[in-house]
Amino acid sequence: MAEEAYKQLIETMAKRGGMYPGVDIPEFYELVQELFSPEEAAISNSLPRGFNTASAIAEAVGKSEEEISPLLEEMANKGICMSGRKGDVAVYAGPPFVPGIFEYQFMRGTNTEKDRALARLIHEYKVAFDRNRTLREDAFPSMRVITVDRTIKAENQIHTYDQVKSYIESYEPLAVSTCYCRHQARLIDEESHCGNPDDVCLQFGRGAQFVIDRGMGRKINKEEAVGILDRSEEAGLVHCTNNRQEIDFLCNCCSCHCVILKNALAHPKPGLVVNSGFRPLWDTELCTACETCIDRCPMDALSMGDDDTPLVNLERCIGCGVCASGCPSEAIVMEERVGIPVPPMDHKALKEAVKASIAR
Ligand code: SF4
Ligand code: SF4
Repeated sequence: MAEEAYKQLIETMAKRGGMYPGVDIPEFYELVQELFSPEEAAISNSLPRGFNTASAIAEAVGKSEEEISPLLEEMANKGICMSGRKGDVAVYAGPPFVPGIFEYQFMRGTNTEKDRALARLIHEYKVAFDRNRTLREDAFPSMRVITVDRTIKAENQIHTYDQVKSYIESYEPLAVSTCYCRHQARLIDEESHCGNPDDVCLQFGRGAQFVIDRGMGRKINKEEAVGILDRSEEAGLVHCTNNRQEIDFLCNCCSCHCVILKNALAHPKPGLVVNSGFRPLWDTELCTACETCIDRCPMDALSMGDDDTPLVNLERCIGCGVCASGCPSEAIVMEERVGIPVPPMDHKALKEAVKASIAR
């Protein structure tokens, strides 16, 4: 019965999608046995799609509402189930591994024996999964980068979905939590930390309310959120999120630890795997050939040209704007890049775009 529930989680996680869906390998079973009790695995397998009330879930699972409610609450506290509210009523949903369950494990920034064990198991699962992963460059990207909007060329139209600050303005509440990727690396090996800030993972709206409710993050005001963005941009971190216009999180990522950027870097053409829809453009009069932009580029997309102006390899460039934001001479602006599709509106539209591209 327990074995069956864990095995069924493969299908459950595959249906939920994301970057690391379930696969039938030993590392998967070792991980899910640490994350889920057999009862929690069985409940997770029976969760209906989307957010549902405890009473709807009770019916799907075959338990009474009184029985299922505390179990769902405990699962939400463990980060293996999401929770929210529809009016006055609590609702719950099953998240994918990434983005979702893996991140929730480390957002509190705690360092317990269980955290360290989970960090190791998640790492081993990801390594085993990546060994067999083939990133198709024609697959619709499920993640995207948002460029540093203050570096966008003045004449370009700046869509709302290209501006992190517009998300900060429009969403309520906002929350910040510990960077899951850098914290996970620290839990495995204290020495592996790259020195970038940890407290820069932003959540928006329902995503923020969830992490606040479960003690995985803390509520912040708009001013503090803007300060976190500025600090991240100064450190050369890349704004990454789901490839849709409605977002619920924004990671500020380093290429040494971030799961999104590391996967892109492993591909010969990172710029086709994840992109912002912008590219850098140089003012040769202003450039002093200091090479700061080359050093800051997280994708090794830049080299110095014969005329002492940097050259960009667009197959490697993800359009993050980190080169432009760090240029001491303000010699770089980001301009719209042709051929990058507009992010789909919401979760459903993104899922359909990914599915259609894979079926081609
Ligand atoms: S950082 Fe600016 S000034 Fe320095 S090489 Fe790059 S574009 Fe030129
Ligand atoms: S050249 Fe490098 S730093 Fe500049 S936008 Fe492209 S990937 Fe980012």
